[in-house]
Amino acid sequence: MRLPGLVLIVIVLLVPSFWFFKLAGQYPAVALFSQYLGAAALIAMGMAQILAARLPGSEMVFGGLDRIYLLHKWLAVFAMVCLGLHDVIDAEIDGLGRETLLMDIAEDVGEIALYGLLILVFVTLTTFIPYIYWRWSHQFIGVFFALGVFHYLFIQKPFHIADPLSLYILFFCVAGILSYLYMVLIYRRIPGPARYRVSETIAYEGATEIVLTPLNKAIRHRAGQFAFFGFDQPELAEIHPFTISGAPSDSGELRICVKALGRYTRALTKQIKPEMPVRVFGAFGRFRLPQVKDQQIWIGAGIGITPFMAWVRSFDAAHPGHRVHLYYSVRSDGNVPFVNELRALADGDPNFQLTVHNSGRQGRLTATDILRDHEPHMATAYVSFCGPEALANQMRSELVKAGLKPSRFLNEEFEIRSSIGLLKIAQWLLKRIR
Ligand SMILES: Cc1cc2nc3c(=O)[nH]c(=O)nc-3n(C[C@H](O)[C@H](O)[C@H](O)COP(=O)(O)OP(=O)(O)OC[C@H]3O[C@@H](n4cnc5c(N)ncnc54)[C@H](O)[C@@H]3O)c2cc1C
Repeated sequence: MRLPGLVLIVIVLLVPSFWFFKLAGQYPAVALFSQYLGAAALIAMGMAQILAARLPGSEMVFGGLDRIYLLHKWLAVFAMVCLGLHDVIDAEIDGLGRETLLMDIAEDVGEIALYGLLILVFVTLTTFIPYIYWRWSHQFIGVFFALGVFHYLFIQKPFHIADPLSLYILFFCVAGILSYLYMVLIYRRIPGPARYRVSETIAYEGATEIVLTPLNKAIRHRAGQFAFFGFDQPELAEIHPFTISGAPSDSGELRICVKALGRYTRALTKQIKPEMPVRVFGAFGRFRLPQVKDQQIWIGAGIGITPFMAWVRSFDAAHPGHRVHLYYSVRSDGNVPFVNELRALADGDPNFQLTVHNSGRQGRLTATDILRDHEPHMATAYVSFCGPEALANQMRSELVKAGLKPSRFLNEEFEIRSSIGLLKIAQWLLKRIR
């Protein structure tokens, strides 16, 4: 996550406190605090919706799309905490005038919005619920957000709806609802600014590389970025993210390598064939080849090799002075994606070292394997990682202990939906209770 984005979010959330503070002389402070929490929740939810709309320029401010989704999640969690507190801390202020029927309705609608949002956010954070059901349920989040806005519009407040404070809150409400409508009604239905066709498929053990040729305008991308792909087949029309594993080229050709992991990717790797039309949305992400002369260590686990393929395939253009050791963790010695291409590159380039680690035979790749080769350079090295989250966390903590600067551990997340450790918290609580 980029610092300017975080600072911006904090400022955006704190601005209303200035107006509420000014009201503190006239109204009870506790009720005003509760109203501020309600306002902060609406602003945070509005921001979360705006971030999810993948607007141009947002990656520049907030970091790659994977980081934006993390921010989206934490904004939602923050909003839920604020809403919960707003619900339990009495926000009512006596003497604001007679209550109307609409105000009573707004009160009840607020409760519905609160419980609806709590349930949907809980479903998001419990990552064991399959993605397809989660995505279906997540579509309704904007409906409950709109109910929350209705509650805000018609509930009794110690300020006028046209006051600067109210207009500020309303700006985020309207922008949030418009972003939600754009994503639900327009984004998925637009034919896609870039249309491609499948020109070649290369089968590997458990994965398929797909080559795409542009039919109209090609997307612009940098090595290491990903895009969303939707194939024009009834079972394959869902939009899924895949890293572009080829180097950017003048012809606009794209390459992706898809590992059959779940329902969609299994169907895709089975049904994909030449000439199939494809819609491409992107490119996104900021996982870039570090432009440094220091020792670089790349760790690609399984299909996490794809961004590194984009990097090596664009080596000459991107980074002439590289010094790289790539660790590629694979599960077998079979027809594993890219191994031959990487071996040929390592044979011809003294600055590019390759270690293929067969976890099936050698056990899991660990920080000890990396430190055996690179302990002396840990203080100056750059480590780029793409693979399972658990392995990333373990590598980061052990390499940092061995002297790596935490800011020099770069990690690409292949997971858009992540938990906040609810399972770990539950396990910890259970242990304490027992
Ligand atoms: C930035 C990024 C880059 C990726 N690059 C590659 C790549 O180069 N090659 C590759 O094989 N895979 C890549 N993936 C992973 C790939 O997107 C998922 O494996 C795929 O979407 C899983 O769908 P499924 O229905 O087969 O699996 P499921 O079993 O349904 O899901 C497996 C996992 O994928 C996630 N997922 C499912 N559907 C979607 C969706 N529509 N959008 C986003 N996430 C989803 C789920 O959260 C789940 O954790 C990448 C993911 C991200 C976020």
